[in-house]
Amino acid sequence: MPIYNFSAGPAVLPQPVIAQIQAALPSFQNSGMSILEISHRSDLFEQVINDAEQDLRDLMAIPDNYRVLFFQGGGTLQFTAAPLNLATNHHHIGLLDSGHWAQRAGDEAQRVGTKVTVLGSSAATHFDRLPVIEQPLDPTLDYVHLTTNNTIEGTMTTDLPATGDIPLVADMSSNFLGESYRVSDFGLIFAGAQKNLGPAGLTLVIVREDLIGHAQQLPSMLDYQLFADKHSMFNTPPVFAIYAAGLVLKWLKQQGGLAAMTARNHAKAALLYDFLDQSQLFTNPVKASDRSTMNVPFVTGNAELDAAVIAGASQHGLLNLKGHRSVGGMRASLYNAMPVAGVQALVDYLAAFEAQHH
Ligand SMILES: *Cc1c(COP(=O)(O)O)cnc(C)c1O
Repeated sequence: MPIYNFSAGPAVLPQPVIAQIQAALPSFQNSGMSILEISHRSDLFEQVINDAEQDLRDLMAIPDNYRVLFFQGGGTLQFTAAPLNLATNHHHIGLLDSGHWAQRAGDEAQRVGTKVTVLGSSAATHFDRLPVIEQPLDPTLDYVHLTTNNTIEGTMTTDLPATGDIPLVADMSSNFLGESYRVSDFGLIFAGAQKNLGPAGLTLVIVREDLIGHAQQLPSMLDYQLFADKHSMFNTPPVFAIYAAGLVLKWLKQQGGLAAMTARNHAKAALLYDFLDQSQLFTNPVKASDRSTMNVPFVTGNAELDAAVIAGASQHGLLNLKGHRSVGGMRASLYNAMPVAGVQALVDYLAAFEAQHH
């Protein structure tokens, strides 16, 4: 029986990449040393990190005036790093309150003395849609923070808010390289790798060059300018995670790149949403135009029945469908490495469950 992993993160990776890692693990590039053992200052690793950056630049068409940085600390550390590096003029940011991760970003910004103005919120409807900017933008905003994909609530934005000269900062943790965006629309993009790019331990930062270097006296490990100057090797970077993400980037290129991946993700998600929308048992609460292609929450409306759905799914090799603890129900994460066959298997299982229980 095939196993399909619908976890929200750490999440499914491409099978060919796992096989490549396994084959290369004892001796990297015939060096007699494992990738787990080599120095980050070695020529071998230099090639790995340079290739990873170039492949990312190719895939996202990253303009030359943007720096690519390899961080640790997850998306969460960037909630601190972004205001410390970019909110240096007025220590004031705007936030689109789209749910859990946006609120976490706001909390962390406040912890480092940044004023946070909520520009719009969809809290009143339990984040079943994207918030819209409800007030004129204060010109003292250093940037506007938005979450492009709300991993828990299952919303995703492709229409970016118009913020004029105020830079957009995007937490892309859960749809990085799963949806096409124009990098030049953003001042800063960051994403933890473990949702859609690789193993945990690595966070990608893409930042417009002119926005960095204005902060005074930052802790070194939070300093974008220092990381840019040191090519992300101020200290030991997460060598293995960068290597594995690099293999995923090469796999993405083989799959036809970001446009092909985006189209495939939309088709995969449509398969599940179409089923849910005609179902008499299952519902997805999200406004149709704001639905995520990456994370699809759904419920029966009955917690006991939800538990039965999840238990039965596990027996069919459909794993990690339990919804986030804050919303309950089910959630299927359909990241790049989830094959269409996995989504079809899920739909078939849900249809059979419905026929038995309705
Ligand atoms: C998972 C997630 C985070 C936090 O990621 P960590 O790597 O655990 O810090 C932040 N933002 C979004 C949108 C996420 O999905």
